[in-house]
Order: sequence, then structure tokens, then C-alpha cells
Amino acid sequence: MTVAFVSDIHLTPDTPEILDRFEEFAAHIPSRVQQLYILGDLFEFWIGDDGTDMLGHARAEALLKQISATGVELHFIHGNRDFLVGEEFARRTGCTILPDPTVMEIGSDRVLMSHGDTLCIQDTEHQEQRKRMTSSKWKVAFLDQPLDQRLSTALELRGKSAAAKQEKDMDIMDADQGHVEEVMRQHQVLILIHGHTHRPGVHQFRLDNAEATRIVLGDWHAQQSMLICEDGRYSLYEGERLVGQSISPASPARL
Ligand code: MN
Repeated sequence: MTVAFVSDIHLTPDTPEILDRFEEFAAHIPSRVQQLYILGDLFEFWIGDDGTDMLGHARAEALLKQISATGVELHFIHGNRDFLVGEEFARRTGCTILPDPTVMEIGSDRVLMSHGDTLCIQDTEHQEQRKRMTSSKWKVAFLDQPLDQRLSTALELRGKSAAAKQEKDMDIMDADQGHVEEVMRQHQVLILIHGHTHRPGVHQFRLDNAEATRIVLGDWHAQQSMLICEDGRYSLYEGERLVGQSISPASPARL
């Protein structure tokens, strides 16, 4: 079985070159890929499933539909940017929306998938904002507003988020190792795949008495970035370049 993972594409009408890159990806997705997991921040922001035309995302949705229509199982986990993606979007594109995090079995491996922002627990400001905005109360109130009002709120939040990032220490915005280990233990996994930090890498470490792996997906700002898992081997690519080396976790990779 071949599974592909991507995240942090950050599609927005302001960056048509990223949509072109995604189109290239959709057109040339290797035919051996049976499942594609999008681990959040596919969109730079999302104002509700009825906002697609206003945000200029009809093309992106058509590309996703094209992927699922060829028989690729398409799955989506919300990112902190596109947490308002809903069931209408899922129906239009042929994807299923999974909770964050989700455990899946690939062969004999148990793999935990997450967007990744919940792992960055040192960024308390982000965690508080996340808690507030992902509450059903906030979401219902937001989605109840007219589209143009939602758009102006989203743009304002995006501006604030960019400004806040400038102020924060890089380390604070990375995954917290202690928390990563706790979450992996809790889900009894030795492989964790996430995005969000835009720091692509393959991190191997001891977890209790086993070899654990955390794979971080890259963003699509300058090139495609994806993880391919094929016959138990995990290979992370930035464009054509392999990041680190392909790894084959000790089988079975489960805690
Ligand atoms: Mn994110």
C-alpha cells in the first residue's frame, strides 16, 4: 500500500503560483498512491463552506474532486487556518474529515496523524485562541454572520497572527518534545506525522525502550513537500529532494 501525506499548502488567491503547484501535484499524483492525507492548513484561511467562490477556491476544490474521482481515498484533518472546513466541502470534494489527532494502521505500523499546532504547548497564546475559536459557540456565531463580515474578521485575524509570530521566539512555536512523547504514549504509537511548524524533518528518538519517529511535513511556499509511505518505508520530499533518509521503522512499529 502506498500512502501520501501533505500539509500546509496555504492556498489563497494572493498566491496563484501555489495553486499552480497544487494543480501540477493533482495532475501527476503517482498512480500507486491509494490514500492521500491532507494534514491541515490546505487553505490560508476558510470562512465557511459557502465562501468558496468569494475566496476563489473553486479551482482547488475541483482539483481535490479530480483526485478523489480517480479512486484515491482522500482524507483531511483540520489545521488552525482551515478549522472551519465542513461537511459540505467534504461532499463536494469527495474527502472525509478526520479528527485531530487520528491513529491509522499502515501495514503493521500504528501511525498518529495530527496538524501539529496542539503539540506546540509552549505557545500559550495560540493555545488559548485555539480553544476559544474551535468552540462550537464561536463557530456557530461566526458562521451566522454574512460572508463579507466573516471575510473581514478572517483577514484581521490573519494580520494579527502574522504580527504575533514576528514577536515570538522560534522555539516557542515548535512542537514540545515532552508533550510529543506524552501524546505518542497515550495513543501507543511509535510514528507521529504532523505539519504546522513548516520545519520539515525526520526526528528519531527513544521512547521508553523503543525507537520512535516524528516526521514533520513541509509547507508548499517554494516547492511541493510530501511524505510517501511505501511498503513500510517513509520518505519525506521537498520537491525532488529527499529530506534525511528513507526510514523503515522496526516492524511492527507500535508501542
Ligand atoms: Mn498550522
